[in-house]
Amino acid sequence: MMGPQHALSGAAVWLAGSWALDHFADYHQSPLALAVGTAVCAGGALFPDLDMSGKVTRNQGGATVARTFGVFSLFAAEVMEKISLGVYYATKLSKDPRRNNGHRTLTHTLPFTVLVGWGTTALCAAYGKWAVITILFFMFGLALRGLFDEWAERAGWVIITLASAGAAWFTFANLPGGRGYPLIGTALGVGCFVHILGDMITRAGVPILWPIPIKRRMWMMIGLPNSIALRVGSKAEVVGMRIALTVVSALATVGLIAPSVLSRFDIEI
Ligand SMILES: [Zn+2]
Repeated sequence: MMGPQHALSGAAVWLAGSWALDHFADYHQSPLALAVGTAVCAGGALFPDLDMSGKVTRNQGGATVARTFGVFSLFAAEVMEKISLGVYYATKLSKDPRRNNGHRTLTHTLPFTVLVGWGTTALCAAYGKWAVITILFFMFGLALRGLFDEWAERAGWVIITLASAGAAWFTFANLPGGRGYPLIGTALGVGCFVHILGDMITRAGVPILWPIPIKRRMWMMIGLPNSIALRVGSKAEVVGMRIALTVVSALATVGLIAPSVLSRFDIEI
């Protein structure tokens, strides 16, 4: 799964989940909260690939996500990759293979997902809107990069950085103040989880069960068998998945906003 599909699956899951909560649990969200949650979940669904570094010194390579903020995020990815590799070697058991790259290890585990969700929630609770605006800035950047990949490629990272800053500022100005924002931590954690699931079906596997040792391996790669995973990741299926995710997102959005739009025109449904 490439960046755009990851981001799109994050958005689709958040919108569909919000629709289900709205419909079945009577849990309503304001349009702003909905938009912020969707963007954060889409950005969060790219976050685990921030462990794929390129060559910072030459400004080359790296995952889509690592290029969001130019050489700055490329550097962050380099750090993340080295930390991941360090954790891999610190916890590896005898049957775990040697590796020279930390990609698809620590950031593709359940503990990481929980830590990101909890950490974000704790930061927002402790620092309120200032933590919120910082996290939103980064997540909007990732979401823009993932959802509008062709535009982002043309626009370049400076424009993306400015657009993210603008969107974060708008949200900051319109968000009710003086409280924690568990929604943002939840959206980010859910996004990371959706990413891991996406990698599980389109790649040879992720160590989702770490740190549970299985057969003298701490980093057991779990996912679809290689042959099926490769097929699911093929171009045709990727396009099909992209269309399906877009349809799900569109339907959920219509389901969420239609009632309030209709009620404005006094139409009973
Ligand atoms: Zn990944």
